[in-house]
Order: sequence, then structure tokens, then C-alpha cells
Amino acid sequence: MENCLFCRIIAGEIPSSKVYEDEHVFAFRDIDPQAPTHILIVPKAHCDSVMDASAETVGHMADAAKLLAVREGLNEKGFRLVINTGDEGGQSVKHLHLHLLGGRSMQWPPG
Ligand code: AMP
Repeated sequence: MENCLFCRIIAGEIPSSKVYEDEHVFAFRDIDPQAPTHILIVPKAHCDSVMDASAETVGHMADAAKLLAVREGLNEKGFRLVINTGDEGGQSVKHLHLHLLGGRSMQWPPG
């Protein structure tokens, strides 16, 4: 999608710290990490939010998150997966993305 930040990252028009790519998803390190590991997993096919996504798309993102959690050494101690949705949900980029956060203790409830 034209002028979508994450579509442009997936296309290689904007540089990113890519950590994983397959047929369905692209994953890269967050530019403003909120934890020692902070990776964004995004579907290659643009959708604005989880409200527009199929179960298959969300499943592909979750599969990549599990693979990356193991690869980053997070599966023993734990990690957090977050999908911010809409303005009150704190979504700043309108291309669906799954945050994988780990490497520190997480607080609950989130701010
Ligand atoms: P959200 O607030 O849930 O929409 O998350 C968007 C995330 O994208 C934030 O955590 C930003 O730090 C991150 N972000 C914005 N621009 C870039 C970029 N060019 N490369 C990597 N991460 C980015």
C-alpha cells in the first residue's frame, strides 16, 4: 500500500533490522525498543488492524512469534505478545503488527 511505513519496510524502500521473513510475514527490530528484545511481526499483505485480518493471517504471525521467541532465547523465562488496535489501543502505525517483547519482567496492567 502506497505510503504505508511498514509496506515500504517490507519492500526494502526503508531500511530495517530484519530478523525473519517467510511467504506470509516479515519481522524486524523495533526502532524504539521497550525491552531487550522488541520485534515487530507484520503480515506482508497490508491490512490496517487485527479487525481486518483473517484467522490465517493472525496464525502466521503467532507462528513466527513462537519461532522468534525460541530463537531469541525467551521461551524459558517468558515473553509478551501485543497487538495494539485503534487510537485508544495505542496503535500508531496502521498496518497490523504483533509486538514480541522479552528479556525483562513485564508489568500488569500495562499503562
Ligand atoms: P504501535 O504503536 O503498536 O502502532 O507500534 C508501532 C511501532 O513501530 C512502535 O513501537 C515504533 O517504535 C515502531 N516503529 C516506527 N517506525 C519504525 C521503523 N522505521 N522501524 C522500526 N520500528 C518502527
